[in-house]
Amino acid sequence: MFPYSCLLNIINRYINAIKKNRFIIHITGKVRRFCLIHFKKNYVQNQLKLRQGQCRQCARCCSLAFRCPLLTSENLCMTYTKGRPDVCKLFAIDHRDLDDVVVAGGQCGYWFEEKA
Ligand code: SF4
Repeated sequence: MFPYSCLLNIINRYINAIKKNRFIIHITGKVRRFCLIHFKKNYVQNQLKLRQGQCRQCARCCSLAFRCPLLTSENLCMTYTKGRPDVCKLFAIDHRDLDDVVVAGGQCGYWFEEKA
């Protein structure tokens, strides 16, 4: 009979592998940002007050999970001045977004003040 603990170990190994999967991390981030922007507007507004630094226009956040089709070959946004979605305009919302950029091999120009 297959030992129960062995089965749990296998399941845990798969769960950990999924958690570390870059694509899964970035898709989860996209869904999280979408939900925050549409359903947690107060949280987003408060986070933007804590946000420091500035965008370095590295376009890392435009290539999380997949490269945005609106990026030019020079990594410039075709809708930057007109029609850019809020999920793009408001990046980064919190430290999790900064972590997503790090997972993609970059370093966002923003950071967040610690709450007192
Ligand atoms: S990752 Fe940060 S610094 Fe780079 S383009 Fe996005 S918001 Fe700007």
